[in-house]
Amino acid sequence: MTLSPAPTAGTSDISVYDRLESRVRSYSRAMPRQFVRAEGPWMHDAEGGRYLDFLSGCSTLNYGHNHPVLKQALMDYIAGDGVTHSLDLHTEAKAAFLEELDKTILAPRGLRYKAMFTGPTGTNAVEAALKLARKVTGRQHVIAFTNGFHGMTLGALACTGNAGKRGGAGVPLSHVSHEPFDGYYGPDVNTADLLEQRLNDPSSGIDAPAAIVVETVQGEGGLNVASPEWLREIARIAKEQGALLIIDDIQAGCGRTGGFFSFEEAGIKPDIVTLAKSLSGMGLPFALTLFRPDLDKWEPGEHNGTFRGNCHAFVTATAAIRHFWKTDDFANDVKRRAELLGRRLKAIAATDPDRMSVKGRGMMQGIDVGSGELASVITSAAFEKGLIIETSGPHDEVVKVLAPLTIDDDVFSAGLDIVEGAVRDAMTPVFGMAAE
Ligand SMILES: *Cc1c(COP(=O)(O)O)cnc(C)c1O
Repeated sequence: MTLSPAPTAGTSDISVYDRLESRVRSYSRAMPRQFVRAEGPWMHDAEGGRYLDFLSGCSTLNYGHNHPVLKQALMDYIAGDGVTHSLDLHTEAKAAFLEELDKTILAPRGLRYKAMFTGPTGTNAVEAALKLARKVTGRQHVIAFTNGFHGMTLGALACTGNAGKRGGAGVPLSHVSHEPFDGYYGPDVNTADLLEQRLNDPSSGIDAPAAIVVETVQGEGGLNVASPEWLREIARIAKEQGALLIIDDIQAGCGRTGGFFSFEEAGIKPDIVTLAKSLSGMGLPFALTLFRPDLDKWEPGEHNGTFRGNCHAFVTATAAIRHFWKTDDFANDVKRRAELLGRRLKAIAATDPDRMSVKGRGMMQGIDVGSGELASVITSAAFEKGLIIETSGPHDEVVKVLAPLTIDDDVFSAGLDIVEGAVRDAMTPVFGMAAE
């Protein structure tokens, strides 16, 4: 199949963004088009160009754009004058979500959690998790990891590694240390052992932690994967040290790595889990902090917010759980597609193994091409061919494939053909010399 009609030069007027929108915008800079419509894996611009979306809102659109089942549920709810905003008043939409989440997701996995609806962004779910851990343990220090990404508000930003993002804080980011993530010193150094050694040494200078916060696959930090063994060790260390284990599943959860939660394969039961991004299933803002019932030490209103629990998102999230997670079929399909992705990326990387390697797990994999310059040549070339794709990693050196989990195999393959061609062109000497 071909990606037609071919994208256009994008002549529609986008000068308004330069004139009126802050310089802080980022993704739009590499993709100067005006998008008007999207369905499934496709986005359409104002000039009739069609783009295959391998960014998926950074894993916010795991079920694709405007999935018909979710869209219908939302349209029915709005048509019936369903409550849109309720602060945290009881609504039918909230009750249905809580019941469905418990029945279909948590109970079958042997997880018993209380659900806390935070402000609608991922970073707010992380803030709530950190506050709760500090409140429950009476400790201040939090352990995060190198290349971790947890959000932009001060508490979450303190747990984020990226210096550029941290620099925006304007105040010291404190009470967090960044320990080496799994594999940080190469395959021969077990960084969980290093952490444990330091925590057990009364003279190491590290304060007793309230929490250890970690991603199982570092979405923004370069698709570094924590092994199941390492995660189990971190879970054990947290327990032995009296710290709470927070898994930030905002990007890796909701099916991106196969199961609903990314930590299922490791067989761990985190004390606290954060979810956002694809939780609503349709790109609606919605975040959730889950924790063990005995940790529910909040005073009423202690972590408040006007937009906690977005009713429209309750409706689409409930529909998404019902549609995709009642059986194992969807998870199995994601795993099968992830194998296809891994095979394709390995074949691409094998053409120049000295300069390329495959990173990631499940449907969050990519190719480390060694430099941000090369990666950006590749993503720009892909965009010219109608593929929306972004980078990740400390130097933006990983070309990251975040296709919708629902994508048809032939469309997926066509997109991967574009990636392959763009990598080949960028890595060949004549092109590569200019690019490096
Ligand atoms: C995106 C992300 C966040 C922050 O979510 P926002 O909705 O952007 O605030 C936190 N943690 C992880 C792992 C993320 O990928």
